[in-house]
Amino acid sequence: EYPISRRLTDVHRSATIALSDQARTLQEAGRSVINLAGGDPFFSTPEHVAKAATEAISEGFTHYTSSRGIPELRAAVAAKIHERQGVDRDPGDEIIITPSAKHALFISLMAILDVGDEVLIPTPSWVSYGDMARLAGARPIPVKLSARDDFRISRELLEAAVSPRSRVLVINTPNNPTGRVLSFDELREIVDFAEAHNLIIVSDEIYEDIVFDEFQHVSITELAGCESRTLVIGGFSKTYAMTGWRLGYVSGPREIIEQALKVQEHTVGVAGSFIQRGGLAALKGDQAPVRAMIAIYAKHRAIVDEGFRDLPGIEFRKPNGAFYAFPGIPAPRFSSSTQFVQWLLEECGVVVTPGSAFGPGGDGHFRISMAARTEIIEEGIRRICDAVARLS
Ligand code: PLP
Repeated sequence: EYPISRRLTDVHRSATIALSDQARTLQEAGRSVINLAGGDPFFSTPEHVAKAATEAISEGFTHYTSSRGIPELRAAVAAKIHERQGVDRDPGDEIIITPSAKHALFISLMAILDVGDEVLIPTPSWVSYGDMARLAGARPIPVKLSARDDFRISRELLEAAVSPRSRVLVINTPNNPTGRVLSFDELREIVDFAEAHNLIIVSDEIYEDIVFDEFQHVSITELAGCESRTLVIGGFSKTYAMTGWRLGYVSGPREIIEQALKVQEHTVGVAGSFIQRGGLAALKGDQAPVRAMIAIYAKHRAIVDEGFRDLPGIEFRKPNGAFYAFPGIPAPRFSSSTQFVQWLLEECGVVVTPGSAFGPGGDGHFRISMAARTEIIEEGIRRICDAVARLS
């Protein structure tokens, strides 16, 4: 009998990581497996970014930095925030560079939440918000969105979930897993709601650069009057194909940022020094590689759309942003997304993520990652379409 913290009772291992592990195990056993489960871009990190980091290592830039992050990178992040979010955040005390967006979220929630507090999370959502809230001693309260209403967040749904214990509302746009981009009107409703209940908004905008067609990313801080209650999470993993670097940031009102900094200082302390130099090159350098990657995601989106558009049994709407597609499972043949996903793996060796992994409202769907290489996407979609066509 080992002593295990009660805080971990309801915390689960990441479902998406577990699936990728399963795919790798099958591959190693010699099966032809197509992995469309992971959220890791297949692209290499742009060369000038890698070069900046290796040069920093060669120069001996391999020590602790300020726990807030190197000043040049904070200034570059502040400039990006000014341009994209329409707010001025002081690089001195309103921005922290973190080792990953994940850690940015973690220190933010740890800074705000007390035991017994509630965190509103519109679902389906990215897998970690709920478990992070639990790690902070709080209770995640899913706000179940409806596929029939295109996973729209409405004041009505939020009002039905709020309580006197609610402290935080987490939003994520462009959205993982649904691919939705929140509209200005929806954001207005969200801000009005947060004001009415005095909630802090944690806005995860890690996919801000990845939008398609006429869709535009709107940061919630662009709406007048909400920056004093909003923390925005940003990252490098997705935009610059830098998942293994572990680099991100959080910006917000200094009163909260100063508290979050304590959590960072007593956990990992600081983001890697030369990693931050890479991040600086990413933000300040040529953005052509980013545009090229987005063009390829758009191509992948077209491949998925072509496969599913007229496929009987599968309901599919093109994603507006991020790099995930979130089609419906062939109903009524399958009663749950896990059943369908397991069938798909056995039937045609394609690994996707069951919608149920993303919380209430997700079951009935499955998530396809469009971040794999083009041949893999083509082969995966072909296999799924053939398998589903054989059902009818
Ligand atoms: N937020 C969302 C919505 C994500 O999908 C991910 C990664 O999958 C993250 C945050 C974490 O990103 P990072 O690699 O910077 O920790």
